[in-house]
Amino acid sequence: MKVIKAKTMGMCFGVRDALALMRTIPNPEKTTVYGELVHNPEVLTEITQRGMTTVSETLRIPPFSQAVVITAHGVSQKKKRTLARNTEYIYDTTCPLVRKVHQKAQALQDEGYFIVVIGKSKHVEVKGIIGDLHAYTVVEKPAEVKRYLHKLLGIVCQTTTQPSLAKAIVQRIHDKNPTAQIEYVDTICKPTRSRQQSVEDLLNQVEAMVVVGGANSNNTRQLTELCYQREVPCVQVQNEQELSTAQFHSFNVVGVTAGTSTLDSTIEKVCQKLESY
Ligand code: SF4
Repeated sequence: MKVIKAKTMGMCFGVRDALALMRTIPNPEKTTVYGELVHNPEVLTEITQRGMTTVSETLRIPPFSQAVVITAHGVSQKKKRTLARNTEYIYDTTCPLVRKVHQKAQALQDEGYFIVVIGKSKHVEVKGIIGDLHAYTVVEKPAEVKRYLHKLLGIVCQTTTQPSLAKAIVQRIHDKNPTAQIEYVDTICKPTRSRQQSVEDLLNQVEAMVVVGGANSNNTRQLTELCYQREVPCVQVQNEQELSTAQFHSFNVVGVTAGTSTLDSTIEKVCQKLESY
């Protein structure tokens, strides 16, 4: 079987930086990670083995610990102040590109815009973005767009939104709100965009796809979704153990891509397993 890897795939700089910082924390057993540091089961095991505790970000206030790690997905300033009341030190690994979304949304709100966030309302990144806003809505699909009773509409995106989806939602907002002044700030991050573009390119060359990434990873799911949209057979796996090569018996050329929280070593093992078939 011939395996073709996507030109750009796998871990992004935001996740790499968060991981690098996590590995240098001096008192891991006295440190709590607020939410999944990255949506990657191997990394979560590493965190536990280092002695750190991970608590769900749905906990309003985590139990006291000497240090708290904020994940690359970020939290609102409001939440950060709450966390600071229950710890001595915060390691903030928020990705600079997520910070940028917070800043853009805040700036638009300060100028009087009602904010439309394109993304998943339950996703931790979106919760962080809307946490400091007072007039906003979250839209996941074009069908959810309404006619808003505001003259100024400011739009930002969750960083891992599929560009074509964002485009469709923005168009729908224009269609439904023809008299509104609409300001769209495209905050889809470059690593997400380049990984999606690489998959688009790869889909022309392969018969089937394997997408490697955490089951909870939004950008991984978006890569899988792209394959489905192009009707290319595709499986999403977290590691090589989940990959059943029997599913690929009728294919000669298979493509591989991976979400932004996937370790290079995991991608390599998946490719080796496919190539050995
Ligand atoms: S996916 Fe984009 S926004 Fe998220 S951590 Fe990576 S670079 Fe940052």
